[in-house]
Amino acid sequence: MNVIDLHCDVLYKLSIMEEPVSFHNDPSLQANKERLLAGKVNVQFFAIFVAADLAPAEKFMSAIRQIELFHSHILAPNPDIIHITDWSQLDQLGEQEIGAVLTVEGVDMIGESLEKLELLLNAGVKLVGLTWNQANAVAYGADEPSHLGLTPFGHEVVKLLNSRNIIVDVSHLNEQSFWDVLKEAKHVIASHSNARSLCDHPRNLTDDQAKALVGKGGHIHLVYYPLFIKKEVKSVTTEDFMHHFVHLARIVGVEHLGLGSDFDGISVFIEDLQDASKTQRVINALKDHFEDDHIRGIAANNFKNYIQQVIATS
Ligand SMILES: [Zn+2]
Repeated sequence: MNVIDLHCDVLYKLSIMEEPVSFHNDPSLQANKERLLAGKVNVQFFAIFVAADLAPAEKFMSAIRQIELFHSHILAPNPDIIHITDWSQLDQLGEQEIGAVLTVEGVDMIGESLEKLELLLNAGVKLVGLTWNQANAVAYGADEPSHLGLTPFGHEVVKLLNSRNIIVDVSHLNEQSFWDVLKEAKHVIASHSNARSLCDHPRNLTDDQAKALVGKGGHIHLVYYPLFIKKEVKSVTTEDFMHHFVHLARIVGVEHLGLGSDFDGISVFIEDLQDASKTQRVINALKDHFEDDHIRGIAANNFKNYIQQVIATS
């Protein structure tokens, strides 16, 4: 069953290598092309992420470098990987093709420049998370005090994203930033988060947040990272992961759920789910809890429905 995966960190991983490896089948990439094909992931989102400890000027350079790597290492050598610059392309992918979507995970690289943000959007970025876990000029991340929200510049950023019909990703925001974004953003999604009532971690969504997000038209893509699934991480199974799907399906509806692996951003794994080639193990585990149509929804169709709202307002 074909899968749309809303988050991986392949670009960042390539960008910190002295000599970037081949995307085709290098084993150091959890989400290389061979593994995506083996796991039937036919749309992969690629995040641009810059490290917090870089000097401000270096951050923008790092983002540009990752866009360059996206072109030189992912698109150019692989004509069967299609850069999704318009959402309508999702429905036009051939059986053997992989759609590739550019995203940003934390806008630290723009500093206080809307012009830099526009440049990233013009390069094809379709989904933007405002922060990683720390604060920046725009908002406060999951590790920050929960009462601090969007900054005045952050409001301008959301306005620009709205005007360009860009999806705002709430996965790494702290609570107040989450609520501020929910109020103002036109299109919202959580690209890689689980249920906080089952695993109390600031990266997960409370039941109230999950309901409000879906109430605003948003979807929740669940993440394969063991620390966001279960407190004792010695061994986390796909069945443990299923509890989050069952719970969120019960409170917001299964038709608003999807997948966001976080491959290449994680170094501990659900048992036997250490790279993208194993993706169908998640699909198989879902079979014990959901009917086929719902599983097809979680795998890809829910996101395709979600994107129809985005297309309709563009
Ligand atoms: Zn992340």
